[in-house]
Amino acid sequence: MRAVGRLARKIKEGELARKMSNPAPVLEVRGLVKSIPSGSRVVEILRGLDFTIPAGTFVVIQGPSGSGKSTLLGLLAGLDKPTSGEILINGEPLSALAEDEMALLRGRRIGFVFQAYQLVPTLTALENVMLPLDLTGHADKESHQRAIELLGEVGLAERSDHYPVQLSGGEQQRVALARAFVTKPPIVLADEPTGNLDSRNSELVLDMLLRLNRETGTTLVMVTHDDQIAAKASRRIALVDGLIVPGPVSEPMLATAPAF
Ligand code: ADP
Ligand code: MG
Repeated sequence: MRAVGRLARKIKEGELARKMSNPAPVLEVRGLVKSIPSGSRVVEILRGLDFTIPAGTFVVIQGPSGSGKSTLLGLLAGLDKPTSGEILINGEPLSALAEDEMALLRGRRIGFVFQAYQLVPTLTALENVMLPLDLTGHADKESHQRAIELLGEVGLAERSDHYPVQLSGGEQQRVALARAFVTKPPIVLADEPTGNLDSRNSELVLDMLLRLNRETGTTLVMVTHDDQIAAKASRRIALVDGLIVPGPVSEPMLATAPAF
């Protein structure tokens, strides 16, 4: 991305913004299939998914290990391509985006939180938070300020010069949260963000993730095994063997259901 000129980038961003500005649901998945050749056969990881996620909602994806949750999130993030079917972001099919538009989408419109943090070991906490801005050519004074503020919001203002190896798992994941939100993305995807943390740190990280989500009005899609967190979601999607199955009813739905 560094090689892209400032004006060329501005034109590209304008085109992407226009494509992304219509009032369709923020995320729409149609007939999504992902299969991978394995030896002489083909492994069907996702076998035809259809769902819609309205803007500003919090959606939880649940399912046993191996059911395709990470594969789905990778496809939603544009990190991987479906075998068939379509993913639409603000009504715009991802398949219609050119490679450089995809890179911009990943860099500025989607934040990603991984189970294993995935910070760059040779960059400090602050530099890790700044990285998405730097990669999309926005590492200016204002965004530097935002990165510092976000590190403060996750309680790590004093740790901005520390390298990942000097931070605990919980602290690393809080840096990763700041990194995911630094570009003010409309969508944040989180894949078992507390899977490597003890219960105290899990609670802290989830509280911060949900607070950042509320404050920024982001659409949050999270894979989690935590039923208490799932109960706070506006929708749960249950995945088994690469298919959506009727899942547990979410709390908000229970609240409006007639009592028997
Ligand atoms: P989950 O996140 O729900 O645990 P994944 O999406 O990681 O599940 O994986 C779903 C299934 O697809 C698993 O059976 C996994 O072994 C298989 N799988 C994932 N990626 C690949 C790959 N690159 N090649 C072959 N099989 C894969
Ligand atoms: Mg997974």
